[in-house]
Amino acid sequence: MPLLPTTTVGSFPKTPSLMKARADYAKGKIRAAALKAEEEKATAFWMETQETLGLDVLVDGEQYRGDMVAFFAEKMPGFELGDLVRSYGNRYYHKPIILDEVQWPGPMTVEWWKFAQSFTSKPVKGMLTGPYTVMDWSFNEHYPDRRSACLALAGEIRKEVEALIEAGAKIIQIDEPATSVRPEELPLVIEAMHKVTEGLPAYFITHICYGAFRLIYPRMLEIPVDNFDLEMSNNQLSLLELFREHRFHKDISFGVQDVHSHVVETVSAIEDRLRQALEVLDLEQVWVDPDCGLKTRTVEEAQEKMRVLVAAVKQFRARYAKSSSQVH
Ligand SMILES: [Zn+2]
Repeated sequence: MPLLPTTTVGSFPKTPSLMKARADYAKGKIRAAALKAEEEKATAFWMETQETLGLDVLVDGEQYRGDMVAFFAEKMPGFELGDLVRSYGNRYYHKPIILDEVQWPGPMTVEWWKFAQSFTSKPVKGMLTGPYTVMDWSFNEHYPDRRSACLALAGEIRKEVEALIEAGAKIIQIDEPATSVRPEELPLVIEAMHKVTEGLPAYFITHICYGAFRLIYPRMLEIPVDNFDLEMSNNQLSLLELFREHRFHKDISFGVQDVHSHVVETVSAIEDRLRQALEVLDLEQVWVDPDCGLKTRTVEEAQEKMRVLVAAVKQFRARYAKSSSQVH
């Protein structure tokens, strides 16, 4: 892996032809196979885009997903999709209902991972939603409490992790954006992640965004993953203050771009954020990516954000190589 590996959080905007296919499918105008062909075309487009732009660790772009929880709930026995609810700003989704024992139905993401990996020799992250977030964003009408629902999900999601590893995935990201919403449940997040990852041979990342980090840090570091993918730029790097008080001792995918803004950051703005990061973190700990998934941006904005991100890191590496060769 190069210095400051570049990556993205996971989702890319759906391409215009895929948007049209999804609308047509919803109206019954095209069949599932035609929709899937468009999802593959869009995935191929994003794989080629990432290769061309020169990112180091790639993602499949989640073109086949609607919502990050509903996607899994639709596939897993035990769930039913409920009514459309609104959450987190303008996000609408069918809130799943757990009505029975949840079950792993066999590989849910492995075919997409293999398809994406076939476009590149660089590593493609396996990408799952974590048990705590699936539990938190669902209604539970089966298990006696949140903990037992969460741990049951953890046992089933672990099977998907094993299937990804079996297929060859070396880096697996388990998104837990709900982690920081109820700080008192952090121990449950930790326990569930243990159940998902313990003893498995992969490099694990978890993505957590928006929330009361002040209330879960530094204990958050006990979540058993190698790398925390965090939204840093959206709050003016204020998390660095927490890292100053208590050392961040794992790897970090450091968000250098605000994904909610249409504005594409300049190379020098990103370099500046990196410099601030490296006042508190070691060079070897840091991966570089946008704050969160790019799916809310336009295709052009997402491409441009990635282009600038890679350019900034390349410039940074060149400067670093020059300054360290002067030292030695
Ligand atoms: Zn996020």
